[in-house]
Amino acid sequence: MLLLFDIDGTLVRVPAALRACRRALKELYGVEDGDRGFDFSGATDLPAFRELARRCGSRGDDVDLLIARYLAHLEEEIAADPGICLPGAHRFTAACAADPRYRLALGTGNVQAGARAKLRAHGLDGYFPTGGFGDDAEQRADILRVAVGRAQEVYGQRFRRVIVIGDTPLDVAAARAVGAAVLAVATGRPSLAELEAAAPDGLLPDLSDTDRALALLADLAAAVKPWG
Ligand SMILES: [Mg+2]
Repeated sequence: MLLLFDIDGTLVRVPAALRACRRALKELYGVEDGDRGFDFSGATDLPAFRELARRCGSRGDDVDLLIARYLAHLEEEIAADPGICLPGAHRFTAACAADPRYRLALGTGNVQAGARAKLRAHGLDGYFPTGGFGDDAEQRADILRVAVGRAQEVYGQRFRRVIVIGDTPLDVAAARAVGAAVLAVATGRPSLAELEAAAPDGLLPDLSDTDRALALLADLAAAVKPWG
């Protein structure tokens, strides 16, 4: 069984990323608060940064440059303030990693360098030897497909069952699109009610009750339909 973890709002909350993004927008386009009114929740990096560049007056396709500047600032901003590991997220991740039934990977809209920086700040990076990232594809469903393929190579096994763990209706939709089950946690921007409306297979307010979260995961694991 493969578990694909989202990062922002699921495992950690890292406001340093927004600060790094604002600095990059200011630097390249001279715009303060270039993200004003933009909802990052569940977004993937490439389309998000491209849209931010457009809003700030960029006429060319300089999204790669923008992301490079974002990453350059991210380490420094994280060093200044790493943000938080969400309630129970570390214990839950460690428990899943220690359970021989599960293999762990990332399924995130973050470009890999950003994903790794955010996780490293909270001691979570080592649990995820591989994954699908925002530099692999623009759509979350495609990122999940990449994640499954890489995980199969890295772990040397074919995964017949996949569970996505995420915090937004977009995670639920992407999981559905690839035939994965989904455990939603309401620790990101979307409320519990909004997540409920997206009809995930399992839903928790947060991961603070490790036993409850593991029991729900085991229920999903037993019920999830074979992949592919
Ligand atoms: Mg998220």
